[in-house]
Amino acid sequence: MSLDLRDRVRDVPDFPTEGIVFKDLMPLLADRVYFTDCIRQLAEWALPRQPDLVLGAEARGFIFGGALAYELGAGFIAARKPGKLPRETIEATYALEYGTDSLQVHRDAITPGARVVILDDVLATGGTARAKAELVDELGGLVVGVLFVIELTFLEGRERLAGYDVHSLIQY
Ligand code: AMP
Repeated sequence: MSLDLRDRVRDVPDFPTEGIVFKDLMPLLADRVYFTDCIRQLAEWALPRQPDLVLGAEARGFIFGGALAYELGAGFIAARKPGKLPRETIEATYALEYGTDSLQVHRDAITPGARVVILDDVLATGGTARAKAELVDELGGLVVGVLFVIELTFLEGRERLAGYDVHSLIQY
């Protein structure tokens, strides 16, 4: 039986800006029983999709993504803010509440045909995950799943990810 991961998610009202309820997963990460069970639940969904790679973006995507990749026996690739990766990169730009942001991956991070699971902690509007999926597509990888710990269903992020196999462990 799985634990209810909601028990270790803390709501922080008005962070980082007024009106946003921030879902803080640090209590879950700090609890060995819940963290282990969370990674187990993510792996249970991802394993049948036979990923070669897990893609995570900084910073929380590195924590969950690294642990998931290890659990799956897959590799890990990092999507980073511009200017952080040392070699040749490709970039995707996505909309934020105000303005835009970009993520980069190394051009040689994905061999064509590689099976990739994209992982993030929270699915909000889906813009970030969409950008990551576009990077994988551009490099010829196969997005075999887009996975989240938390989904904020009222923001309808799944619609931005139409055509991809999307899953979340807990929904609000
Ligand atoms: P998205 O709108 O789906 O592109 O989400 C943007 C990024 O911000 C994702 O990496 C989420 O993890 C994070 N994020 C968005 N909304 C929240 C929230 N309410 N609580 C915690 N993280 C969030």
